[in-house]
Amino acid sequence: MDAIPNPFSGQVEHVQDLHDAAAIEQRLAAAQRAFAAWAAAGFAARAASLRRVAGLLREQAPALAALMRQEMGKLQREGEAEINKAAGVCEYYAEHAQALLADVPIATEARRSHVRHEPLGCLLAVMPWNFPFWQVFRFLAPALMAGNVALLKHASNVPRCADAIAGLLAEAGLPAGVFDVLHIDNEQAATVVADPRIASVSLTGSERAGSAVAANAGKHLKKCVLELGGSDAFIVLADADVEAAVKAAAASRFDNAGQTCIAAKRFIVLPDVADAFVQGLVQAAAQRVYGDPADPQTRLAPMARADLRQELDKQVRQSVAAGAQVLIGGAPLDATHAGYPATVLDQVGPGMPAYSEELFGPVAAIIRVADVQAAIDVANDTDFGLGGSVWGADVAAAEAVANALQCGAAFVNAPVRSDARLPFGGCKRSGYGRELGQAGILELVNAKTVYVA
Ligand code: NAP
Repeated sequence: MDAIPNPFSGQVEHVQDLHDAAAIEQRLAAAQRAFAAWAAAGFAARAASLRRVAGLLREQAPALAALMRQEMGKLQREGEAEINKAAGVCEYYAEHAQALLADVPIATEARRSHVRHEPLGCLLAVMPWNFPFWQVFRFLAPALMAGNVALLKHASNVPRCADAIAGLLAEAGLPAGVFDVLHIDNEQAATVVADPRIASVSLTGSERAGSAVAANAGKHLKKCVLELGGSDAFIVLADADVEAAVKAAAASRFDNAGQTCIAAKRFIVLPDVADAFVQGLVQAAAQRVYGDPADPQTRLAPMARADLRQELDKQVRQSVAAGAQVLIGGAPLDATHAGYPATVLDQVGPGMPAYSEELFGPVAAIIRVADVQAAIDVANDTDFGLGGSVWGADVAAAEAVANALQCGAAFVNAPVRSDARLPFGGCKRSGYGRELGQAGILELVNAKTVYVA
């Protein structure tokens, strides 16, 4: 049983019972029964279903955003934008999945040889709370369009979001068993991963969760896609448009209360622009007024849980003890359940959590460097490899820096963001495999070689 407090008020608004073994079995069996017909239904029928889901998402965006707000504290307008983005990924794969999964002819001495893409079966998704709809749909839309069925184990603090997703798919008329939710703890999840009816696992979350689930999947020889944490560099070169960089930096770091895997987290600044950039970011932080996420005036949401705020506070205090300088913010907001102010830490360097760990909250770490090579070295001096963003007027020079970053996505003069058309994923300890684009849907199929002599 999980009690879910509202992150703004701290009041428990919902208590979620966990499924027992019989309920889990019933869902696994239903998924197995649904698979063959769904796989055989064809792209056009599946696309029609996904388009209906997209329509319902758009229609119900305000109510679904309110649910996220109640469970994990997201600002209402950020929630509505997320729901529309989730609708967009359904529409993208409804439109393109067939072409993305078309047979690939390969010339050999055979009469015909090609690769065809077949669904795998029932996929298990283990998902985080920070984008409770988007993270699920960026997995689910390609998974279903490829002809798979899916079960979702969502983060334990967003059970009503999980149920709302199942409700939407049922309302759109998807057959029973094509998708369902498992309200299970991590131990129960391990038994589901082991079940022979589960073909593969997709996990978005922390390194800790990724390592535990991947170890278990490996034991049972199941394929995994892992989208894990990040500590993305945001490099401001000497010729950068500082105003544009500050605006993007503040949005990337403080939106969603800083709880975004691809948020810019380490701001690596060259001497010519350092003071102007830092001053601009501090001003932008000052404008991020904390408040009720239902209030349209609020510019900074609460963090999702009190324990996550405590962890962030510890990382900040340790960084300050090691020499970081607080320019604004820097301590939990009094008399709030999970409020933490928009914070800027200057003079961050090696040996501090703000330098080497992921700060999953609204805290920007400024790292001042002497030159471009030092900026690249610092950007790569991390265990993570999710994204990175480089700012500079000389686009070729900025792109050369982007090319030197060890990460899954490098953006020039734009913040790192996910886009249904572009592959998304990391290297190093940020995980492996890809979501979105063609690479994302190809993770969810069997690439079968066919040779006709
Ligand atoms: P989390 O604590 O790792 O939880 C993620 C999911 O994994 C939840 O459903 C959680 O379930 C489950 N889980 C945790 N331990 C597990 C285990 N041993 N076995 C099975 N399932 C397990 O992460 P979070 O706090 O929700 O999310 C924050 C992290 O996710 C950050 O590091 C962030 O950077 C990362 N993230 C990465 C991406 C990406 O695309 N790369 C996107 C978003 C977030 P319970 O809630 O029941 O524990």
